[in-house]
Amino acid sequence: MCEVIILFDGFSRKLDDGNMHADCSCTLIKGPKLIIVDTMTAWDSKKLIEALAQHNIEPKDIDYVVCTHSHSDHIGNNNLFLNAIHIVGLTVQRYDIFYKNPQISNEDYELCPGVKVTATPGHTAEDITVLVEMIKDGEIKLLAITGDLFEKEEDILEPTIWKSLGIPELLKTQSITRSRIINIADFIIPGHGPMFRVTDNMREIVNSQIIQ
Ligand SMILES: [Zn+2]
Repeated sequence: MCEVIILFDGFSRKLDDGNMHADCSCTLIKGPKLIIVDTMTAWDSKKLIEALAQHNIEPKDIDYVVCTHSHSDHIGNNNLFLNAIHIVGLTVQRYDIFYKNPQISNEDYELCPGVKVTATPGHTAEDITVLVEMIKDGEIKLLAITGDLFEKEEDILEPTIWKSLGIPELLKTQSITRSRIINIADFIIPGHGPMFRVTDNMREIVNSQIIQ
């Protein structure tokens, strides 16, 4: 079973001048493979290397870099990980080879036992979510690392948060994808907030928000 280490909690807040102060959640998955999910902004390389070193990991040890989508705050340090296969949205690449038919779809793409990638369009057309089986309180639980499909826990009660950040044409798609993921996940690491435990109440709310 994999161990999940949250290297950095994501955050996002509007500044008084209307600009946004934000960085993404950055997660390390330790199992048969070493996987890093979302690599923050280009200005975070030093702190990312230091955070990995605290777990005795060097960038060259990472097997997979997974970016939930290709926005700049999620891909900034991909070039630290030059031995890894890079999965950026639906694109799977190593060196200058782009793998054909990566099979990232609703049927999932397995990185190693207990870790899968699934397509979760909405925030962008090519968003993906990493699904990780982990032990929590002695039971197997499913963790979804969703990128900005879920911006933060608060966007369940305040859907204007995610609706204002995604591609307008994909709002309906995102509402359906959010429902699909929250119905299977026990925990969610959102793109810009701390991990939260999914409750039945949250599922009801998200299911009721599906845009017809
Ligand atoms: Zn983001």
